[in-house]
Amino acid sequence: MSHTIIQHLTIDGGPATQDFYRKLLDSLADGVYFVDKERRITYWNRGAEAISGYSAQDVLGRSCRDNLLIHTNAEGCQLCLCGCPLAATFRDRVNRQADVFLKHRQGHRVSVSVHVSPILDSERRVIGGVEVFSENSSKIAALERAAEMEQLALVDSLTKAGNRRYTERVLRDSCDRYCRDRENFAVLFIDLDHFKAVNDTYGHDAGDVVLKAVSRMIVNNLRSFDFFGRWGGEEFIAILTNSNKAYARVIAERCCALVRSCVVEWAGRAIRPTISIGVALIQPDESQTELLARADSYLYQAKQAGRDQFYGP
Ligand code: GH3
Ligand code: MG
Ligand code: MG
Repeated sequence: MSHTIIQHLTIDGGPATQDFYRKLLDSLADGVYFVDKERRITYWNRGAEAISGYSAQDVLGRSCRDNLLIHTNAEGCQLCLCGCPLAATFRDRVNRQADVFLKHRQGHRVSVSVHVSPILDSERRVIGGVEVFSENSSKIAALERAAEMEQLALVDSLTKAGNRRYTERVLRDSCDRYCRDRENFAVLFIDLDHFKAVNDTYGHDAGDVVLKAVSRMIVNNLRSFDFFGRWGGEEFIAILTNSNKAYARVIAERCCALVRSCVVEWAGRAIRPTISIGVALIQPDESQTELLARADSYLYQAKQAGRDQFYGP
């Protein structure tokens, strides 16, 4: 401990006192580091290690001018080149606060709020500086944005049902689970009847409202652990987990009846949508594509039989 911040702080006391302060600083969640006059890092606490990913061993003796941490401002400009708060504080001895980004050892940027202060000797000459930094809450906002983006990537924006990609993923997972654990599931391939005529008669916006209303009705009729996704256009897929033929038929019949009872008001007129459904239960050794093709062919038969009904085993 010959050349440490403890000396910078001009704390009198033997190694025991110095050890006490080191432990105190190490117990902080905030990052704390000290630099000497040449801006060489002389102390780096545990909080700094946790936030930056760099250990004390990595950084001690290095100059912050080496740009190890590559502090940048929000515009991405490197602070060593366009205004280091520590250097400014060395010049005017004024404490500073700044929101900057530092480079984490793993490469990503960490948004931190930094406070820098000069360390002065008894004649008020600058002998070093201390920087305290904490992670900004914008990091949490970034994580929330990532979750939102993930949501956007999985959800159909019009109907809020799962999108095609998500539906394919759930189908694949369901097939895998069936192969592994023989966990039965049924697929309902759902298609709105004469939907082109709805668009042609009432307009595309009216068609959109119908799509939303129909998907809401179907979702409300499923169990929370069943899946409902938009396959494309006016076609939807429901995946009924852990279900047998009788249950799948009950749900399909109920979906048809609910949609049949639905009246969408549009410009003073009433639109009465109906749906047709193909019902298929997963079979041993059946691939996802084969299962869907079977559900699709049952759907075709429901259409042939006059629409507004389901067809299945
Ligand atoms: P069928 O009973 O045989 O299924 O007849 P259909 O008219 O429903 O089938 P078709 O495939 O001929 O028409 C589907 C229509 O769905 C055509 C397309 O414009 C419309 N459509 C697809 N996606 C959307 C959408 O997002 N919004 C609206 N409003 N219409 C859509
Ligand atoms: Mg269709
Ligand atoms: Mg259709």
